[in-house]
Amino acid sequence: MPTIVRRLEPENNGAVIPLDTRPAVKQRSQRTGYGQVNISPAPAHFPIEQMHDSYGRRIHYLRISLTDACNLRCVYCMPEQMNFRPRHELMSDEEILHLVKVGASLGVEKIRLTGGEPSIRPGVVELVRGIAAIPGIRDIAMTTNALLLHEQAQALADAGLRRVNISIDTLDADKFHKITRWGHIEDVWRGIAAAEAAGLRPVKLNAVVVRNFNDGQDVVDLARLTLERDWEVRFIEMMPFGEVTDFQQTNVVSYQEIRATVEAEFGPLQEASYDFVDPSRPFRIPGATGTLGFISSVTEPFCQGCGRVRLTADGKLRLCLLREDEADLLTPLRQGATFDEMRELMREAAFHKPWGHGLADGDFAHNRSMNQIGG
Ligand code: SAM
Ligand code: SF4
Repeated sequence: MPTIVRRLEPENNGAVIPLDTRPAVKQRSQRTGYGQVNISPAPAHFPIEQMHDSYGRRIHYLRISLTDACNLRCVYCMPEQMNFRPRHELMSDEEILHLVKVGASLGVEKIRLTGGEPSIRPGVVELVRGIAAIPGIRDIAMTTNALLLHEQAQALADAGLRRVNISIDTLDADKFHKITRWGHIEDVWRGIAAAEAAGLRPVKLNAVVVRNFNDGQDVVDLARLTLERDWEVRFIEMMPFGEVTDFQQTNVVSYQEIRATVEAEFGPLQEASYDFVDPSRPFRIPGATGTLGFISSVTEPFCQGCGRVRLTADGKLRLCLLREDEADLLTPLRQGATFDEMRELMREAAFHKPWGHGLADGDFAHNRSMNQIGG
């Protein structure tokens, strides 16, 4: 059985990324520098089985954090001064592809690339191409702040990316700058347009709702976008993590409140078709082209249909977003574990996926902030 670590050491030993390196455009032209290590070769073809957790949930969806670094500093995600991990501690492209193959051999079909900001990872297009070529992988999506999409959307789509979720918490340019600390909303609009032009559809917009910040008119304005656009605007309850839990706990706005704000403006929402797997429950403003989604992870969790596990950028299999339980996959991989041994490690770890979070009992996951897990 793999070691499932309940608590990691505090994240204070990584290299500090100086603020003046923050524009990701600079980073992309550099050599990758991710760990160059010899790992056991993965077979080109492998039998595909299915993995389940101890509650019988099939694990078929892997979210991968490509980096913990980001070109923004959203207030609910991370502090402005962040220590990021040095690159050699992060999974290399080869290691990611290997672990995706391991997952695919166990029935993983869906991949979501996230971060930090996945688009700032050097070589991300080739990585997408490599993942898309893995037998069994049917769907690759990305969650992004969209700042670089105007340059990357077409190449990513050509490489095999199918869809993007784009984070935008308000349509107000000043507020957007405040909540992201460094962002400019026009870059997001440019990214959305590029995603649509590249066929990365349907575009989904993610908005984390923060009390006394964007819980009123901003929610209404975001919802209004769906009247004429075939977008899904998803409102996310703010979740407590890592170093910003106090802020997150005192400013959380419940799904019921967000929905009431939307309904006060547009009338009762209609339920849209739901697969009971997606964490976002879909609704529609009557007559609207697009849909609204509510992600109520805090107040009304949706653990029953959860088939997700996550790979942190440093190669830990995180079994539940809001629990600290993780299994280290990168260390055994670097120590020469064979493909079959990695398969057993992943299968065993996934079996121990907890049922759900313990927020109601005051059980918070402090070991990582959101940018290290990826959402
Ligand atoms: N940088 C990318 C982005 O922002 O889309 C991907 C990584 S980000 C961690 C993934 C998603 O998590 C984003 O939609 C972001 O808004 C959301 N998020 C970040 N911190 C959160 C928190 N404390 N509670 C709920 N959602 C959060
Ligand atoms: Fe960066 Fe995304 Fe976190 Fe904002 S939510 S700081 S864009 S990782």
